[in-house]
Amino acid sequence: MNQEELISKLIQLNQISSKLEVPETERVELIENTTEFINSFISGLDEKKVFHERKAHYLEINNKKRILPELLDLYRREVVETGINAASGKHMGYIPAGGLFVSALADFIAATTNPYASVYYASPGAAEIENQVINWLKSVFSFPETSVGNLTSGGSISMLIAFTAARDKHRIKNELISKSVVYLTEQIHHSALKALRIIGLEDIIIRYVPMDEHHRMRADKLLEYIEKDIVDELNPFLVVGTAGTTDTGAVDPLDRIADIAEANKLWFHVDAAYGGFFILTSKKDLFKGIERADSIIVDPHKGMFLPYGVGAVLVKDKASVLHSNHYFANYMQDANMEEMIQSPSNVSPELTKHFRGLRVWLPLQIHGVEPFVACLEEKLLLVKYFRNKLSELGFKLGPEPDLSVSYFWYPFETDSNEKNKQLMKEIHADGDVYLSSSIINGQFVIRIAILVFRTKKETVDKAVSMISRCLAKVK
Ligand SMILES: *Cc1c(COP(=O)(O)O)cnc(C)c1O
Repeated sequence: MNQEELISKLIQLNQISSKLEVPETERVELIENTTEFINSFISGLDEKKVFHERKAHYLEINNKKRILPELLDLYRREVVETGINAASGKHMGYIPAGGLFVSALADFIAATTNPYASVYYASPGAAEIENQVINWLKSVFSFPETSVGNLTSGGSISMLIAFTAARDKHRIKNELISKSVVYLTEQIHHSALKALRIIGLEDIIIRYVPMDEHHRMRADKLLEYIEKDIVDELNPFLVVGTAGTTDTGAVDPLDRIADIAEANKLWFHVDAAYGGFFILTSKKDLFKGIERADSIIVDPHKGMFLPYGVGAVLVKDKASVLHSNHYFANYMQDANMEEMIQSPSNVSPELTKHFRGLRVWLPLQIHGVEPFVACLEEKLLLVKYFRNKLSELGFKLGPEPDLSVSYFWYPFETDSNEKNKQLMKEIHADGDVYLSSSIINGQFVIRIAILVFRTKKETVDKAVSMISRCLAKVK
């Protein structure tokens, strides 16, 4: 191809490729379509069913061009109206959160401006926003300024970063793996066990420490187990405390665990993915000792009500995090050493990533912290209110929860587990409010998890009337 042919080919290609840059008038129209869709979605949240038990269809890509309003309609039918509507205040299963609008807006701005937030040199402003969010988190959990942190995609990846740092600090490799011991409870989130497997510690010894009647780790038992393992010439290495267990909302005795970890030189990790932000509420005292942890994880996409896709990890030992994650490539030689420390990519397995700092930073700047705290406090009271109502209906309740997760079951005279399962099925078939289930001490239980910022007293009232109408069907 000579230069002339090349130019004419470029002109030809440009006619097609330019379609990817949408002109302003069309942009305005697309945004209007989207705004209309979003407004009707949000205003319909309270009336619409929260759970649709059906599969999704018609979503294949077939290179037929379609217009946005048509696609939004498809999205409503096949995405919004299948499965659980996790933006709804009526979602009280698993660990919900809702998804703040301002955070969604931040995602739109971040995606449009597309700064390279992973490397300070490439976008000092975006990296600085990420680092400022980390600084704020350090202050929330009284972690020292010298600790490092990262905004991840969620708790599972945060856990990987923390455990890898623990592994490398304690040099757990080769023969030492099968002699090293991790201490946790049966209420541990499965992502902790998954993280151990992923980072090559599958053969490590796992000790399930007994719990008290509130599902909290028994510190006396922890000490007993560690002392026995030392006598047996094993290598006690890591203890994982949970600040807000997923099933039961319990906070382990963090301060006592910290004492034991310190005395025996164990890495102390706290999984505060769900419960962490309750440290900002009247429950603050339960978190005493969290500041003594070597690492913690916390999920803004849970306790800060942000849309899915942002977790956080804080680690005190900078060197151990950099050991496994620091990065240097020839094509990045323009980034100097000083700047490397400020770059999120040196603290995470990720390099190129979505600029997720903005989705945390913008809501904090626009709303301030106060409404977040009030909202968390409200969730704590709503669980109490819910439990009182259930008790009036004759339900049995799990122990008084530390945070906003609890459980209940109906004391049917015969086949209690079967009938509670049946009740759960009726609740799912009804679909007005979503609850999930678990097995606790061999008992099939229905969980209440209140964490969507949109969940209000009226939402709980709806849940209670739904439960009593479903109970009438099973009785
Ligand atoms: C949700 C959760 C996790 C896992 O976090 P993801 O963000 O879902 O990856 C870990 N621990 C606890 C206690 C959780 O509630």
